[in-house]
Order: sequence, then structure tokens, then C-alpha cells
Amino acid sequence: MRVNREMAALGNVRSVIRETFEYGNRRAAEIGRDRVFDFSLGNPNVPAPDALERELVRLAETEDPVLLHGYTSAQGDAGTRKMIAEDLRGRFGIRAEADDLYLTCGAAAALAIVCKALTDPSAGDEFVVIAPYFPEYRVFAEAAGAVLSVVPPDTDTFGISFPELEKRITAQTKAVLINFPNNPSGAVLSEEDIQTLADLLEKRSEAFGHPIYLVSDEPYRELVYDDSRPAPFPAKAYRNTIVCYSFSKSLSIPGERLGYVFIRPEAADHDELYAAVCGAGRALGYVCAPSMMQKAIRALLHEKTDIGFYRANRDLLLSSLRSFGFTCVTPEGAFYLFMKSPDPDANAFCLKAREYELLLVPADSFGCPGCVRIAYCVKHEMIRASLPAFRKLAERYGLIGG
Ligand code: PLP
Repeated sequence: MRVNREMAALGNVRSVIRETFEYGNRRAAEIGRDRVFDFSLGNPNVPAPDALERELVRLAETEDPVLLHGYTSAQGDAGTRKMIAEDLRGRFGIRAEADDLYLTCGAAAALAIVCKALTDPSAGDEFVVIAPYFPEYRVFAEAAGAVLSVVPPDTDTFGISFPELEKRITAQTKAVLINFPNNPSGAVLSEEDIQTLADLLEKRSEAFGHPIYLVSDEPYRELVYDDSRPAPFPAKAYRNTIVCYSFSKSLSIPGERLGYVFIRPEAADHDELYAAVCGAGRALGYVCAPSMMQKAIRALLHEKTDIGFYRANRDLLLSSLRSFGFTCVTPEGAFYLFMKSPDPDANAFCLKAREYELLLVPADSFGCPGCVRIAYCVKHEMIRASLPAFRKLAERYGLIGG
């Protein structure tokens, strides 16, 4: 074997999400795109705000092209970082400066960088995640040389089971990695939950004599359905928080690759940690985030996607699936519906769903066997058109009479 076996394995075996998506493309070529109900991928179907196109045109027409398309500094354009810091201060009432921010190619790069920046591969470092969790966390943590420790799901609320979390925080724990609003459950934590989490991490950090960081993966921060209850900002409650943010979903630009790492200025070992983030970005070969996007984003910090589009999709899908007898949790944020599989084997259920051209994702790799993820960031008409197929599937499982 002349190559890294683990990397070859990663390359050969697609994630179940990607595998389902590729199957959908093959099937669409066979029977037509509008006859395949592809709920596999979290690729937003809402166009980016008009302000993005206007700003890109303005930049192309007015900026020096050499600067516009050239490398930026590794941590990202200083003016952009300053504006994001200002935005964080204004929105959350925290301290934030340009040098607490590092711009990345989306949240995926931010997470991979943070995992590498925190991990000492010779020390058996652990990252604790809460099931259901985004499967790429395992890839990023293990590539960095850390071990993933999984808190089992609280299948009533899909929040955090604190007694289970406490059991898994050990002397080896480097960080707890959370993602709310959650992919795949749509759960959003309350302010009280965040405070309980902060208190627990303070207590355990003190007991073990080293900081336990909180890595907060926030690509869905802006996607919350109850306007009166925005998603809490964990960094406000716990100083040792590292935020991994992304503009992919909040602005519908996942292919443009822009996000950031934010380290609270009060975090333990802030300067060394920031240096390690810069070093990890360098070691992983990121060089800098896409230059034109870094500049365009300044005009979009107050924009966000049309949450009404996702709300309409959620409401139609949720009420229909429940009326067909499926058991689903109400998503409070993000754009995924989490459903209990009527077959204990969710893989078998998803294969059966394919017979009706419904492409769903079994949640085993999210640490939640027996559940299924439905990404409803799709055209409303597709949801409408898919309902007879969901009904037939429910009939097949005897959830409603045929
Ligand atoms: N984290 C979660 C929970 C996600 O769902 C995703 C993408 O779907 C990412 C991170 C990666 O997002 P990005 O496109 O910003 O790399």
C-alpha cells in the first residue's frame, strides 16, 4: 500500500448523504428530475439575497482586480474581520476584535482547523459530541488525531442530556462540540440550557485543572422559526467558546465557501489558540478564504435568507407526514425534519422509500439509528408533489389504511 489507507477509505466510501445525492442524480437522468424527490442534501433552494449580486458587480467594476482576486492575509481581510467583530459586539453585547477572527472556507474548514489547532495527537485528546451530530465531525476530529466521544441522543427533545454529557467529560476532554440549531433534528437550545452547559463546563474545567473548550458550530444560527426566540449565542455564556460560523446557509452561498472562527478574547490561552488556528489553517493548506467573497460579505452582514420559505416547507411536510402516521419532532430551526423510521432498520426503510423515488437519509451515521433525516431546503412544489409517495410509503408500513 503506497497511500494512506485511512484517506483512501474516506475517499472510497462516500458519506451516506453524498451517496444518496449521487443516486438521485443517476435516477434523475433515467426518469427525469421532477419525478425524483431528493431530500438528501442541505443545499439551500432559496437564492442568495439580491444584495450579493449587486455587491459582486460593484466590486468587479470598481475595485483593482489584482487586489480583488489576489491572496488576502491568511487570517482574512482585516477590514472584513473588523466589520464582523463590530457586528458580533452589536448583536450579542460581547467583546470582539478583528484579531479574534479567522476567515475560513465555510464551517467545514473552520471545524477541521479548530480540531487540529486543539488536538495533541499523542495525548489521547477527546472531543465530546451530542447525538445526533453532523457526521463530518468524526472525520475532522480523527484526522486531527483526536477521539470522538458521543453523548447518546435525548430522543424526546433532541437537546442535551446533561447527566450523559457529564459522564463523558473526562480528563482527556479537549472540547465539547455542539451544533444548535441542529442538523439533523432542527432542535434549538434554550438560554437555560446554554447556562447549564456553561456551568457544567466551568465546573469540569476546574476539576480537571485545564480549560474544556466549547466549540459551537453555527451554520444555522440565523435559521430559527420563532421570531421572538432567536437562537442563543453560547459564546456569551461561556468564555472558553470557539465559534465556527458559516455564511453557507444564512445567505444561501454554500458553494462560495465563506465562514469564520471566532475565539472569545477572554478565552484561556487566547493568543496561543489563535496562533494555533492560523498554524492549522496553514498546515491544512487553506492559504486564505475566497478573496472576492471576503470583500462582498461586508455588504451582507445584515442580510439573511428568507426564513418564510423554509417555514412554509416545514409546515406542509410536518403536518402531512404526521397525518400519514409518521412520528416527527417539530424542527425549531435549520431546514431538516427528523423522523422516526417505522422500520427499526432505518437503512432498510430508506431503501424502501427509494422504490417511491423518495430519497431520505438514515441517521445511523449521525449517531441516531432508527431515525431518518429529510432535508426540506427544496422547492415547495417538490414537497407537494412528493406527498402521494410519502402516503404510499406509510400505507406500505401499515401506518394508515391503504
Ligand atoms: N456543520 C453542520 C452542522 C452542517 O450541517 C454543515 C453543512 O451542511 C457544515 C457544518 C459545513 O458547512 P459549510 O458549507 O459552511 O462548510
